[in-house]
Amino acid sequence: MSFAKLLGGSEVCRQLEALSGSRRLPHAVVLESRDEKLGRSVANELAAAFLCESEGVRPCGVCRVCRKVREGVHPDVCTVETTGGKQATGVGEIRAMISDCFIKPNEGAGKVYFIFDKMTPEAQNALLKILEEPPQNVLFVIVTEKSTLLLKTVLSRSALFKLLDDQGEKPSDEAFEIAVEIARAVPQNIELPLLAATSRMLKSRELAKQVLEILGEFFTLALEEKYLGEGGYEEYITGMTRMLRRSSIVKLFDVVSQAQEMLSHNCNMNILVTWLCANIRESRH
Ligand SMILES: [Zn+2]
Repeated sequence: MSFAKLLGGSEVCRQLEALSGSRRLPHAVVLESRDEKLGRSVANELAAAFLCESEGVRPCGVCRVCRKVREGVHPDVCTVETTGGKQATGVGEIRAMISDCFIKPNEGAGKVYFIFDKMTPEAQNALLKILEEPPQNVLFVIVTEKSTLLLKTVLSRSALFKLLDDQGEKPSDEAFEIAVEIARAVPQNIELPLLAATSRMLKSRELAKQVLEILGEFFTLALEEKYLGEGGYEEYITGMTRMLRRSSIVKLFDVVSQAQEMLSHNCNMNILVTWLCANIRESRH
């Protein structure tokens, strides 16, 4: 399906068409979309544009390559699969992708890699290395629900396209406040502040959902600060960076992903909050 069919006549549609037509696609594209199916379809269309054999408009939609890509059977278009039932793509899967991208394409003039799942911060750092010195004729397409879940360093080396207008609800001030409280409590060795903060999430599922989302962003920022050692982060982020090991922050990120998964499966809120509290405690050691 063409960009126009997928995205209507929107501004982002025109940008993607222009980029595909210019034959100068960047090495990495990030597609932000709340609608996962739409994100995947647009990713596929970009892959077709990247590999299309037409001399005219790309993707032409009719050449051998375009047809294969659209049918999902082109051997040089690969999806990075998260293995072992994990919540997020890990560093192992990204390293495997990196070694694979140096192998010559099977058919076409290039290769395309789709990353549809969430990535752990460590996986993103592995990806960053290849984005810094990308091989010729390889396109990475990352589809994400929220681009803020990606490290800034990854985003800065990618072209970002937001596929839908931001119609989602903005997180409430209360959710932000609770997330900050939890972030401050995480590095402390006394339990009460953590218990007090996490139990505020019991108020509603929507609030808990927003808190977890913000916490995920906080842990990503803390890890980013750990890697970059740059200042300018908020005091509740810096507190975690100073007091926690890198491996602990990675674990905390996983704990949040798992809690989000539990929430999406309608688990009991008391169980969720107790689980979260216990696992945050566990992770910081
Ligand atoms: Zn074509």
